[in-house]
Amino acid sequence: MTTAIRCGTLIDGTGADPVRNATIICDVDKATIVDVRRDGDVPRDAEVIDAGHLTIMPGMIDCHVHLGSSTWGVQERLLTPFSLIVAHALNHARVTLEAGFTSVRDAAGTPRGVKMAIDQGLFPGPRLRIAVSALSQTGGHGDSVMPNGANIRPVSELPFTVVDGVEAVRKATREVLRAGADQIKVHTSGGVMSPNDEPGATGFSPDEIAAIVYEARAAGKTVMAHAQATQGIKNAVLGGISSIEHGIFLDEEVIEEMKRRGTYFVPTLVAPLWVIRRAEKDPSSVPPYALRKAREVMAAHQASFRLAVERGVRIAMGTDTGVGPHGTNAEELERMVEGGMTPMQAIVATTRTAAECARIAHLTGTLEVGKRADILGVSGDPLSDISVLQHKEKLALIMKDGRAMKPLGAASLVPA
Ligand SMILES: [Zn+2]
Repeated sequence: MTTAIRCGTLIDGTGADPVRNATIICDVDKATIVDVRRDGDVPRDAEVIDAGHLTIMPGMIDCHVHLGSSTWGVQERLLTPFSLIVAHALNHARVTLEAGFTSVRDAAGTPRGVKMAIDQGLFPGPRLRIAVSALSQTGGHGDSVMPNGANIRPVSELPFTVVDGVEAVRKATREVLRAGADQIKVHTSGGVMSPNDEPGATGFSPDEIAAIVYEARAAGKTVMAHAQATQGIKNAVLGGISSIEHGIFLDEEVIEEMKRRGTYFVPTLVAPLWVIRRAEKDPSSVPPYALRKAREVMAAHQASFRLAVERGVRIAMGTDTGVGPHGTNAEELERMVEGGMTPMQAIVATTRTAAECARIAHLTGTLEVGKRADILGVSGDPLSDISVLQHKEKLALIMKDGRAMKPLGAASLVPA
């Protein structure tokens, strides 16, 4: 079966100029794009989707979400069993797809069953690449022992990964891989939401990082690093980690090294903003230490992003959603434009570059022959107003793997 999508304006995700009146031809059985025609010709047997009034672009990709996290305070977390977290994660997956995101890279907290349930068609959601559990040193960003000594980490199937020393991190990496990780997540610095450390603190030693990267590569996987402190970013980059998450305190030297090595930068500009917004709305949802740290890092974070854009670092879009509400992911594009990107650069960061960073570029990220038909139809022009992508009602068509998850004319996703 063949589907022909008549496009008003086509933004293909490569960064090329938009094209008027192109037609995308999809082989529905293979879920792939088989032709992109400039002349608007349609095969005789094709089912035609007339999106001539829409901007057509690739389904968006968020390289840093936590589907298993919610914008909850400590008390709600303590009252929530892991099985309920899984149910929420599946709901978050649906909400994320509804927001136009057909793929996401999960940066820890989501078990493999959530990915399998989506792949098996039990629940609607984006294509997932999961990190399962994030490795952290004792007292580091992933250590959820509170000042009173209680550990608020839920009991779950996720491997316990607060570990120290080369042999322990090696074993933890192998356990996370056994639990189904598509990439390894590691904390090479402190962070905002953690009770015991500061964003400027370095986490893990270079020999620990080397062991983690070795084990990941041995399994054919990459490593993503939560890295905010300058030294933590440097250790990660020099250790061969493939993406720097947050990157709050970048400097000229590490930026040059990232460019030389092709390291990705996933900024998550909205994350500290959401900590502050949540605290303003409901102080009990954010511990005081997190609010203080979010306020302290804002200016440095934005300056680092601006510098990275100017210097031409490979930037892939990511939000840290879970810190903020699921489904609000597309606000990040507006923040990226505010921080110095053109709307086209922000779109490429959220399509082609995000696909490369998540290692799914062979499947998605651009609308080119041979790619999966992950397609977004937008009522409006994101190149003149990037915020249009934040409005669910403007996302008139959402297609994943050649299947219209939200068909033209529908108000919401079709049931799985
Ligand atoms: Zn995160």
